[in-house]
Amino acid sequence: MTALSTQTPRIRALSPLVASQIAAGEVVERPASVVKELVENSIDAGATRIVVELEQGGIELVRVTDDGGGIVREDLALAVMPHATSKITGTEDLDRIATLGFRGEALASITSVSRFSIRSRTATSDAAWQLDTDGVVEGLGEHSLRPASGPVGTSITVRNLFFNTPARRKFLRTVATEQSRCVDTLAELALAHPTVSFVCKCEGRTLLDTPMGQSPHDRALEVLGKELKGQLLTANADQFDDPRGIALWGLIGLPSIARATRGAQHVFINGRAVRDKTVQHALAEAYRGIIEPGRHATALLMLEMSPQAVDVNVHPTKAEVRFRDSGVVHSTVYHACKRALAAADLTPTYGSMRPGALFRAGEGRAILPSVGPAAQPAYAPTSHPTSPAAFIEYFKRIAPSNTQTPISYQAIREAVEGTQGAAGPGDMRPESVGNDGAASVAPGEPSLARRALNDEILLDASPAQRILQVHNSFVVTQDEQGVLIVDQHALHERVMFEALLARVGESDLESQRLLTPVVVDASPAQLAKLDELAPLLKRIGVEAEPFGPSRVAVQAFPTFLFDRGVDPAEFLTDLFEKSSAGDFMPGSEDALRDVLDMMSCKAAVKAGDRMNETELTELLKLREAVERSSNCPHGRPTTVRLTIRELERLFGRS
Ligand code: ADP
Ligand code: MG
Repeated sequence: MTALSTQTPRIRALSPLVASQIAAGEVVERPASVVKELVENSIDAGATRIVVELEQGGIELVRVTDDGGGIVREDLALAVMPHATSKITGTEDLDRIATLGFRGEALASITSVSRFSIRSRTATSDAAWQLDTDGVVEGLGEHSLRPASGPVGTSITVRNLFFNTPARRKFLRTVATEQSRCVDTLAELALAHPTVSFVCKCEGRTLLDTPMGQSPHDRALEVLGKELKGQLLTANADQFDDPRGIALWGLIGLPSIARATRGAQHVFINGRAVRDKTVQHALAEAYRGIIEPGRHATALLMLEMSPQAVDVNVHPTKAEVRFRDSGVVHSTVYHACKRALAAADLTPTYGSMRPGALFRAGEGRAILPSVGPAAQPAYAPTSHPTSPAAFIEYFKRIAPSNTQTPISYQAIREAVEGTQGAAGPGDMRPESVGNDGAASVAPGEPSLARRALNDEILLDASPAQRILQVHNSFVVTQDEQGVLIVDQHALHERVMFEALLARVGESDLESQRLLTPVVVDASPAQLAKLDELAPLLKRIGVEAEPFGPSRVAVQAFPTFLFDRGVDPAEFLTDLFEKSSAGDFMPGSEDALRDVLDMMSCKAAVKAGDRMNETELTELLKLREAVERSSNCPHGRPTTVRLTIRELERLFGRS
């Protein structure tokens, strides 16, 4: 213990400069924050053209010049004072913020950590006025102003960022990194404000120059890259008439351009770029099953809602917001995106892929091309196979493991009929019952009635198309655009998954009571979990109970799995294994989906299973009937299209 620590420390008020510098820590993290705050001010001032100049990634200089309304001479010194703003006057205004800024803190923060200069002129003044500070704002007043020349509008120059706070300066990254963050920030603002022209010059080189008065769509392509054209779907929702309602317009990427990070997701709420968990989650849900878990859709989403419906005053840089009703936001985003995806043909074409990477295309970091030395074009076209051999290689890699199970076809058909609401589960079928009653059939032995039903289905199908099964694994056929190649397991799995998902939404899955229970070994931990799993098991039609100290007895099993010859013991063992994963929450929808996914995978036709013509025809019919049939539940593609154009190219005809 030193003498010092035994003394009670005394309290003193910080000097305004130190207070400002501390406050600046929240708002000004790096040059990109300066760009954001200054450009937002320009937008709030009604600018139609905003020029941003950067030197040394903005560390040496950020200058933002606009043609907005300007600041009157009398207010110029006030503008750099903390808590000085023209945008709100009272607390009640916080409820209806229509400007990007309102905290009155940005200019004060920036001036306290840089050499700052502001020049401004309003339309009613015939001269501009200028104010220069050197990190100190105390004692500024009209006497600090000097006349200057310049057009109507405002130009702010920020030099030597953090020159007086070396600790913060140390946290800056390389010039190239800071520069690309500045440009990314500006690009985001440019996306949100398509009518405004944005120019960005780095060391005199123009990196961004967007025309004035663009449509959101044209601006998106301008900023994100024209090569995205044809890779984006439009998502729409307009419920603005509803007082809580929100309007949504967006461009969302095809599954093939999903990425490893959320870097290509741009979400705007009333023109403000935000990171928002609700929106991100809704988007991920809409893409669930068509992109691999852990990958992220490309998306530009613009939400508009009444300012009362969203609190923007929850984050110092306003990057996060709080919705009054996040449920409405979630469902609007989810449904709009899902509709757009459902309406689109998501079958990837051969030309858009490279081996094993059909669903890994589009890696890349920046949202803009040509930013700094390390930059690469966003969404760079990836190399793709140029030889049929490479093409086949691709298939080998995505093909599921080769196991043999006898194919009984009826389950697919029944499952899909279930989704169409024709026959409810458990009706009209003497030998099968819901969970509440029980009829007994020996496992694996289809009843006569069932076989008859199966025959009927077989007769009903008419093979009109030419279909070829290749190596008992892939199904090849044609459509208007070219050749379709289907991964039979992936497609069947997807079809079953959708059917199960729809069915389980209505009632518990139909189950079959076993003549003799199937007994499975279980660890004490698994036995303990059984109670927790019970509601989930009931939903999928499994009845299981402890059987002695270290075993579980399966009394009833889903009819669907039973018919497909899935072994109850193996199924339960796998289910236990799945449920012991750390993130498995038995009560959640995620867990249900996981288990349905496992069921469809087990029940689906495998690679190596021979299918007859009728079965092939039916499978392809189901492809059209089922939503998101383009990808299996894991997000892998079920179908690839080789277009006629692509064939012509391969054969050197074009
Ligand atoms: P806020 O934007 O939260 O009001 P700022 O510190 O960013 O706070 O700016 C303070 C005030 O300075 C603004 O309210 C606005 O009146 C004025 N101002 C800042 N930049 C500009 C600009 N480019 N054009 C016109 N007025 C500006
Ligand atoms: Mg501001």
